[in-house]
Amino acid sequence: MQAFKSNIIEANDVILLLHGGVGRIHKEAISPETEHLYQEAIIHALTEGQKIISCGGKSIDAVETAIRILEDCPLFNAGKGAVYANNEMIELDAAIMDGKTLNAGSVAGVRTVKNPISAARKIIDNSPHVMLVGSGADEFAKENGIEIVDQSYFKVKDRWQQIIKLKEETENNTDLFSKHPPTKLGTVGCVAIDEGGGLAAGTSTGGMLNKKFGRVGDTPIIGAGTYANKICAVSCTGHGEYFICHAVAHDICAMIEYKSIPVSVAVKEMIEEKLTNAGGVGGLIAMDANGNIAVNYNTEGMFYGFIKKDGTITVNICNMIIE
Ligand code: ASP
Repeated sequence: MQAFKSNIIEANDVILLLHGGVGRIHKEAISPETEHLYQEAIIHALTEGQKIISCGGKSIDAVETAIRILEDCPLFNAGKGAVYANNEMIELDAAIMDGKTLNAGSVAGVRTVKNPISAARKIIDNSPHVMLVGSGADEFAKENGIEIVDQSYFKVKDRWQQIIKLKEETENNTDLFSKHPPTKLGTVGCVAIDEGGGLAAGTSTGGMLNKKFGRVGDTPIIGAGTYANKICAVSCTGHGEYFICHAVAHDICAMIEYKSIPVSVAVKEMIEEKLTNAGGVGGLIAMDANGNIAVNYNTEGMFYGFIKKDGTITVNICNMIIE
């Protein structure tokens, strides 16, 4: 996928910030009805997350709740509506991390878990592990009371047409997703801060369209696509292989800590220099322990929304900022 000049967005006094992926998102390609549905889902996720925090709840609970709402919405590449792998299966990745305790949970390649973010959360609560993959992760989720569904639950018509078209174009080659990128990715992620100053981050995805089955992206890799500590919380989206090799989410936190720079400067350096120079395409959201946020991406667009302490909401869809 082609890299574009990056865009940086900054704000302060934010309590919850989420993204709905990066990619080529043209306003003309989205009907007003669909745009409204995106907006509705993002606002719903923001307000439900905010309710938890304003009642004194923990940021990790707000992150899980917000991401569940986006996983249930078929417009995003997470949970229902996720992209197909080359074997025409849907394999989902998710991770969540509590910045205060450094506890993290993640699942990769699950095929039957309705809300992978909740399975990741259960790993924190009910297991001594951090990451579970494949059928073991599906099994763990089932044993721990997470809702299990048939693969057919995740499938939506647009995604099916997307994989069929791509496979025709690439003559069934499994290794071409980077040369024939999808028009819109749609991974979801969230960062939040609670009244006690605790940060949390979470990310959920179907991964990259036409990925080889068994491929794991950056999303469930702690430190790559998802990371939170006492200083900063980060959720990434884009071409996962680059985010893994640059340990992007952790590197943002490390830059802030070791160089004593603001979150926006660290995010800018990561996207505009490190990632872009390496040929990586994508974006991320980050929040520091004072509620300062930065959103940056080197694609044509990125969906994001945030809610401030005073309740004001900002939503960006197709680079149209709605306040
Ligand atoms: N980063 C995800 C992956 O590589 C995909 C995305 O964010 O769209 O699996």
